[in-house]
Amino acid sequence: MRLIPKFLLSATSPDQFPLPSAPEVAFLGRSNVGKSSLLNALVGSKQAHVSSTPGRTQAINFFALRDSAANTQPVLLFADLPGYGYAKLSKSITAEWPKFIEPYLALRSTLALCVCLVDSKVPPQESDAQLIHYLREMDRRFVVVATKADRLSGNERTRSAAALKRGLGVDDLLLCSAKTELGLKELWGMMRAIAADRSR
Ligand code: GDP
Repeated sequence: MRLIPKFLLSATSPDQFPLPSAPEVAFLGRSNVGKSSLLNALVGSKQAHVSSTPGRTQAINFFALRDSAANTQPVLLFADLPGYGYAKLSKSITAEWPKFIEPYLALRSTLALCVCLVDSKVPPQESDAQLIHYLREMDRRFVVVATKADRLSGNERTRSAAALKRGLGVDDLLLCSAKTELGLKELWGMMRAIAADRSR
């Protein structure tokens, strides 16, 4: 069963974050990794427009997900973080990082899972490794998702997953495709488990 998404707000500083409520899942990745496409595939095409609205790109966009129209309380919140990794900003993940991404990742009390997106066709990147290192330091739970896996053959997927795991120093990685919906059930499984866990 799909959850019902609703755009909440765009925040550019911590004082604009919504009050902590339901467990939150953050989506992080380099620009062009396929984050908007994956979010749309997860929650339905209606949100596509919202997340691709120009001007919202350097903000954290929050979405509430309800399990039924009758239930006004969200079961999960999604936080769509700005894409990072432009070559010109190679020294830090992004100029926005210290302003509100870092405070978000470090302090957000309801943040339950970080979904770290990497492109399955791109070799491991330093900026992604930096992010994972940071999440480990902050003791945040995370999952690495390799996007656009439909672009690879079976053998290429195996090779790419192995190279990414090695390069990023992680034991697990989920191959996904917004196009074919590969891996989305597994991702929803993880997110639902988190929602169920926190609501107990
Ligand atoms: P964002 O910048 O991370 O939000 O990336 P987008 O979602 O805008 O995607 C960047 C590009 O990758 C676009 O041209 C998408 O059509 C393409 N793309 C995203 N997801 C997939 C996927 O699952 N399969 C394929 N083949 N292309 C994808």
